[in-house]
Amino acid sequence: MSIKRALRIVFDRTPDDTIDLFKVFPGLKHFFERRRLHAVLRTVGDVVFAFIILAGLFGPQEPKRNCILYLSWGLWWPTIVLSWFFVGRMWCGFCPFPGAGRLVQSLGLSFNLRVPRFIQKNSPYLSLALLCFIIWIEESTGIKESPRGTALLILSILSGATVTAMLFPKQAWCRYLCPMGRLIGVGSTLSILEFRPDFEKCKTCKTFACKRGTNERSGCPVYLGAFNVRNNLDCLICGHCLSLCDKDSPKLNLRSPFKELLLNKGRFITCSYIIPFLMGSQLVRFYEDSPFLLPWFKQVTGLWAMALYSGLLIVGFIYVFFIIRLGACSFGITEDELFGKFSPMVPILVPMAFAGELAYRLDYAVRHAPEFLPTIARQFHIGSLSYLTFQVPHWTFPIMNIFILASAIGACNYVLFRLAFDEFEGMVPGWRVAIVSGLIFITGLSYICFMIPV
Ligand code: SF4
Ligand code: SF4
Ligand code: SF4
Repeated sequence: MSIKRALRIVFDRTPDDTIDLFKVFPGLKHFFERRRLHAVLRTVGDVVFAFIILAGLFGPQEPKRNCILYLSWGLWWPTIVLSWFFVGRMWCGFCPFPGAGRLVQSLGLSFNLRVPRFIQKNSPYLSLALLCFIIWIEESTGIKESPRGTALLILSILSGATVTAMLFPKQAWCRYLCPMGRLIGVGSTLSILEFRPDFEKCKTCKTFACKRGTNERSGCPVYLGAFNVRNNLDCLICGHCLSLCDKDSPKLNLRSPFKELLLNKGRFITCSYIIPFLMGSQLVRFYEDSPFLLPWFKQVTGLWAMALYSGLLIVGFIYVFFIIRLGACSFGITEDELFGKFSPMVPILVPMAFAGELAYRLDYAVRHAPEFLPTIARQFHIGSLSYLTFQVPHWTFPIMNIFILASAIGACNYVLFRLAFDEFEGMVPGWRVAIVSGLIFITGLSYICFMIPV
């Protein structure tokens, strides 16, 4: 693979071009096919996961004496968010949440019911509702300071995945209900990797083993099958279907991170409420640490704080929703001849939604990093580790956040220009593009104002 070509693809100079990494690095394909290393990594993940739950439930409850807080909120979650850009949903291939369900199913303890149509049809809304609930709990209850609260949150997601596995075959939770999966799927539309089949080969397929499985092995765990993968939203990139396909169809492509946003125009982001909710909640999360926070907000506690936080979330949602509607009216085109109705602001704002989440999670990770080793030292009485700390200069945070957001503003404008001047060439006048661009700047500035710490 020529580095020059790879860079040209990633920087969108040749947007329709892709490189099949399975061809360039056959070892990568073996890694997915053989699944031995996969299993090892999964087991390591399961052990860490079990440690987080047990130490959270039964370990010390002071935040400075229990390292699971930083493991969960400072390492685990920010790493997943960062991985969206580089490897899409690949995290889902190693995720420990479905593990207990798989075990239950292998013991024959599942009812194997058909997933109700209601769940299939409304899956984006159901998973989004769960995501809203998790973010609300996370921010309004101070769970990030509570080891037990963190463990209980993880346990409740684990229970959801396990109970669903007891009712339905395979990983229905991952396909229809998982709030993290929904978020990871949307974030992964901006990934530089995509898992796709060779549609020409699939056209001649008679077995569809990637979805149906064979007598020896079951098919795709999320009822998809490689031939159905047209975006990064639902495929877990678990590689399970690789060894099921006898035509060597599945590929892992290096691509432009904007390819999916431009080609699909956000159409398959399924629930257009996820972008306003995510961005609205990010604005509220940043607002809580900003110099604009009303002083009396800090004095409100308990149920009143939860109610107040709910109100702020609604305001944040309405604000971004209003920008999206205004942007759609200004852009002037909401119909695509291929996809039908679409909201142009959804693909345009995806980079900012991704950047907002990344900035928020990295801010926590960097801010709390100096305390990680001393916390382990206190928890496990390892005196020597307590000296391994360092200082992060205060100016790091605004600079890091502003850099991430400024890049996102650039990326949003890029998607806007490509949609306006390439995809809908000659149909969107310059003044309309200027208004939408102005809205992008206003939204970005709202973030930047709230991001600057007190
Ligand atoms: S969809 Fe959710 S539970 Fe399933 S693998 Fe992904 S993060 Fe884990
Ligand atoms: S990926 Fe392979 S098994 Fe699946 S439909 Fe295509 S050719 Fe058939
Ligand atoms: S299509 Fe293949 S890689 Fe994607 S989730 Fe299904 S089995 Fe895994």
